[in-house]
Amino acid sequence: MRRAVGGFSPRYVRDWDTWLHAHPDERRQLFGRILRNWQATRPVRMRRLRVEATHPSPFLDDLLESAAEPIRVLAGLTVLTIAHRTPEQHYALTSLWKNLARLPTSGVASCVGITKPLLLLTDGRIGPAFDSRVRRALGVPRPSTSREWLSTLEGVGEDIVASEASRRLLSKAVPARFAHLAYGRLYDMALGRRDQRGKARTPLNSVFGREEGRTMGHQVRAKCLDCGRTFKVDHGGGFSFHLLRCDTCGKTKSMAFDALGELHARYLKGLPGPYSIATAGQDEDIGEHAPVQPISEAECYKGIEKVAGQCRCGGSYRLDAPPRCPKCRSTRVEEGEITVMYD
Ligand SMILES: [Zn+2]
Ligand SMILES: [Zn+2]
Repeated sequence: MRRAVGGFSPRYVRDWDTWLHAHPDERRQLFGRILRNWQATRPVRMRRLRVEATHPSPFLDDLLESAAEPIRVLAGLTVLTIAHRTPEQHYALTSLWKNLARLPTSGVASCVGITKPLLLLTDGRIGPAFDSRVRRALGVPRPSTSREWLSTLEGVGEDIVASEASRRLLSKAVPARFAHLAYGRLYDMALGRRDQRGKARTPLNSVFGREEGRTMGHQVRAKCLDCGRTFKVDHGGGFSFHLLRCDTCGKTKSMAFDALGELHARYLKGLPGPYSIATAGQDEDIGEHAPVQPISEAECYKGIEKVAGQCRCGGSYRLDAPPRCPKCRSTRVEEGEITVMYD
């Protein structure tokens, strides 16, 4: 995730910095300039400000003026809370969809031409913008009505809220210079990564890891509820290894994908999409070209556990063994905040 966001086009990042730090008076000019950079209404030309326009009205000023009140109503609403919007906010979103559809000088804007300016106008709170990369990564069709768009956004919001862990991961996983960004835009950046190749078929949850409970690697503080010992617990593997845990003493062991050789290649081949966004390009090469037979996730996990073997204590290393207190081996462990991300 860190790499996915960090690898994003510097120009896009610069556009956002400029926008977020701009004085309200400068924003009218900037709005058009940034959206032209982003080719929001491609291939049709975008409307211009009254002073610079060579086309008939409405002008960009008019669209921005009618967007002002709905944007004010949306203050505080984000992609995380969009499912709980008030009727007034619902009306505001619908009217923005209609209003921004007039952005091109002819015809009606596509969902890209509407969701990009909206991401900008809400300072990144309502996103992602549904360009083709984002739609492919999410596996969703092009929303053609405001209703379809809102229900897709609700899905994205649910995905982010699904677990507190995912949410903390998302805000912790991005480089510090992006820490102030709103979720809609973070999501947009993670999914819209420019150098993601080919026909990505990434499922929605793979932004945060393969599945809930086996998200990207992170370490949390923990406390044993039986003996009171405090310690740290590692969860999940990283982009290059699996993390196993002894089912008897709780000791962990990591298995590098490289060390697994063909087993990992067969696993990648069996996946419906890349293992993670960060390794997408490489994974798809293997998925498409490696001369191996695909295996299911369950078969692969069984194979990894076999390779990992036995712990010195006599227990077995498992991918799904619960964390244990290192002192009394109790599994009654209370977990606290995340201290380290180790993608
Ligand atoms: Zn053990
Ligand atoms: Zn204990």
